[in-house]
Amino acid sequence: MIIIVGTGAGGGILAYELTKNNIPVTIIEKGPYIDSKDAFNYYDKYSDSVDLLTTTCIGGASIVAMGNMVRALDEELHEFGIDLSDAYEYVENLVGVHQLDDSHIGKGTQAFLDAGHELGLKTLKMPKAIREEDCIQCGKCAFGCPADAKWSGKDFVDEAVKNGATLICDAEVVSVISEDGKACGVTYIKEDNEESVYADTVILSAGAIGSTLILRNSGIEDAGREIFFDPFVSVGGYLKDINFNTEVQMAGLVIGENFVLSPHFSSFIRANIPNDDVGDKDILSIMVKTADECKGYVDDDGDVVKINTIQDIRYLAEGAATAGFILEKAGVDPSTIGSTVYRGAHPGGTAPIGKIVDSNQETEIEGLFVSDASVLPVSPGKPPILTILALSKRLADYLVKNK
Ligand SMILES: Cc1cc2nc3c(=O)[nH]c(=O)nc-3n(C[C@H](O)[C@H](O)[C@H](O)COP(=O)(O)OP(=O)(O)OC[C@H]3O[C@@H](n4cnc5c(N)ncnc54)[C@H](O)[C@@H]3O)c2cc1C
Repeated sequence: MIIIVGTGAGGGILAYELTKNNIPVTIIEKGPYIDSKDAFNYYDKYSDSVDLLTTTCIGGASIVAMGNMVRALDEELHEFGIDLSDAYEYVENLVGVHQLDDSHIGKGTQAFLDAGHELGLKTLKMPKAIREEDCIQCGKCAFGCPADAKWSGKDFVDEAVKNGATLICDAEVVSVISEDGKACGVTYIKEDNEESVYADTVILSAGAIGSTLILRNSGIEDAGREIFFDPFVSVGGYLKDINFNTEVQMAGLVIGENFVLSPHFSSFIRANIPNDDVGDKDILSIMVKTADECKGYVDDDGDVVKINTIQDIRYLAEGAATAGFILEKAGVDPSTIGSTVYRGAHPGGTAPIGKIVDSNQETEIEGLFVSDASVLPVSPGKPPILTILALSKRLADYLVKNK
């Protein structure tokens, strides 16, 4: 039997792939089993010093993700002897990655794409795992999905349960039980009771922060002494009746050397515009996302301390300036352009390959693996789910072969 902790980007596909190969699996998830449309209620809270977006529920942060699917970190993973080409192709087919049909590209997104092309920037439609036939174009991708039109880790968990997996929700794994340096189970808390389940293989997919805490409680003290989170700001301004707030979000992409840009509605922009008549329908905004240096740490309570380096700020400023040019070209009144505060939505790098896990994602405790954003060796600066899926598929293949 294999125990999988967490049901997000890393855990879901592992459960699906292993059960498909007739390996018995027990999945333990800290959050509740919910409908995708209710996911916005399950965002986590951190201290006031960091604005970090993660969720605790079935599907983890993948259930509030925008469905963006891009390959990342090819060169960096090659350095550890990891070639994800086949795994990428497999998972792209599995979750149906494609650029959205023009029927799902709204007016604001088209203005972004046209402006990017006119400015000579590397501009394309974002590869997505969204089913157009179900999508109602409501702009609420980050709330979960009212129409259940996006892929999330929950889809794979449901399949795994059909294949015979045991799913235990509302159960927080605290630590891994080991004997003579070998994993043999986990302890978890459910309804205030401490319980245990036993297996000789345990995979932590509890996310960059959740996996850190479990690793530390299990004697791997160096976990979480570094962290990246792909910082972002949204920059936007006034464009009357653009109605961008109800479009599929982040359906376009501009790739710069040190940043990526994608059209993304933020209601916070309204506060920058000194005109009471401005509504959400009159705002066009762009997310600026960069790869940050891995400076910061997870404290023992699971709070995150993030340090911004000069390079981090420089890359964000470059991206924000380019977003300003695109907005102006797209017709936004330049005197209204403003930005949100600095936030993060992709925490990772807390148990990196080459430091906390080896290139098979195994820790110093035999049979204890990590497969989630924790293992990424550096910040991708772009959506990480596809890379996490491909790494987890590769790990599933390894375990199937070696079980
Ligand atoms: C609003 C938003 C939009 C995003 N959009 C995109 C996008 O479009 N494309 C993209 O690539 N990325 C996107 N991301 C980032 C992406 O969702 C995450 O990087 C990714 O889900 C991380 O995968 P993971 O497996 O590390 O963690 P998660 O997917 O968060 O999964 C971790 C799971 O572990 C559970 N857990 C935690 N602790 C414990 C414990 N002690 N015991 C048991 N279970 C535990 C959690 O409840 C959760 O289910 C977005 C993120 C946010 C917040």
